[in-house]
Amino acid sequence: MQTIDKFNFAGKKAFVRVDFNVPLDENFNITDDTRMRAALPTLKKILADGGSIIIGSHLGRPKGVTDKFSLKHILKHLSELLNVEVLFANDCMGEEAVTKTAALKPGEVLLLENLRFYAEEEGKPRGLAEDATDEEKAAAKKAVKESQKEFTKKLASYADCYVNDAFGTAHRAHASTALIAKYFSTENKMFGFLMEKEVKAVDKVLNDIKRPFTAIMGGSKVSSKIEIIENLLNKVDNLVIAGGMTYTFTKALGGKIGNSLCEDDKLDLALELLKKAKEKGVNLVLSVDAKIADAFSNEANSQFCEAEEIPDGWLALDIGPKTEDIFANIIKESKTILWNGPTGVFEFDNFSHGSFAVGEAIVEATKNGAFSLVGGGDSVACVNKFGFADGVSYVSTGGGALLEAIEGKVLPGIAAIQE
Ligand code: AMP
Repeated sequence: MQTIDKFNFAGKKAFVRVDFNVPLDENFNITDDTRMRAALPTLKKILADGGSIIIGSHLGRPKGVTDKFSLKHILKHLSELLNVEVLFANDCMGEEAVTKTAALKPGEVLLLENLRFYAEEEGKPRGLAEDATDEEKAAAKKAVKESQKEFTKKLASYADCYVNDAFGTAHRAHASTALIAKYFSTENKMFGFLMEKEVKAVDKVLNDIKRPFTAIMGGSKVSSKIEIIENLLNKVDNLVIAGGMTYTFTKALGGKIGNSLCEDDKLDLALELLKKAKEKGVNLVLSVDAKIADAFSNEANSQFCEAEEIPDGWLALDIGPKTEDIFANIIKESKTILWNGPTGVFEFDNFSHGSFAVGEAIVEATKNGAFSLVGGGDSVACVNKFGFADGVSYVSTGGGALLEAIEGKVLPGIAAIQE
């Protein structure tokens, strides 16, 4: 497999797929440029080698050409970050893209307009009538898959080599994230530095495990994390269940959970997961106490109680101090740690202490040599809120892609480079 550090981009045109899907305010100002900064090492290496760059990205979920989702809004900031005046092609397919990519000289950077302005990027039909028949849907799908081949081929034709640095979309088999790779030889396609770091971090928690390995699964719903939990049961020594999903387990075990979050149709599944954990010798850890509230609000009245004795009219919004100690002790003795999902409603300051305590224990374990990976959904917001990002080994930018990787799925964007 080719690697970016060994590749010399001198005189080469690189098509770099990045994830510049950044949040914009109503005046199109970027409110968080983390994703842009994350791609800079890759872009700068190509320029330093004397290569030129064609940048492809999506922004938002447009259903066609939409000014709101134009990548022109990020052009100025990208130029500032790179210290190079970035050129722009206001369509990724038309004459302008062809001419500008052909004319690109070493040291130059061209940003293509939002790839998702074309249905071919995702390969999903658009504009189907609501009452379309199954045959019409199948025909539209076939048509877009056909035209997707031309779209992909054309994107590939702009460049000599392909770099995928968009981990956030690695779980999608889209034209620019996966399909395009087959138009480049093994020597001419590679991960960017960000993607490489993400892939290595996932590999460390799935395949290069130093024990004990502890996963802390929090967040709101068991149903959204079943596959991850099932895959982790084959890997971890300790599985700490936290957050809203705890109470489905507690109720399944006969506990009283008041108005706490619960998925009543998942009680059997919770028992099944507990049984599987036992069979596999995994220490599945549930809360013993909770911080409960009389309303879903930061200002609600609150008190601590046993996790299986939550009074009617009250709901658990965080773990209690005894649970914090139990979780922290397990974490501090671990050598590999995966954290996905807060222990409570961390957005409410009065119910964020459990998540803080878990984060603090992970930072301490990391200082003592553990490898810690944080990611998926709200976990990143949580470590950022408490300022723990620098204290853990790796904070994934991945979201859905990270969760699918942990579920054990092969991500198309990764496979396309590795095969
Ligand atoms: P997820 O996206 O599944 O990782 O869930 C994250 C969300 O779960 C956060 O917004 C938390 O506020 C929420 N959450 C965590 N614990 C609880 C709880 N005990 N009750 C209700 N919501 C919770």
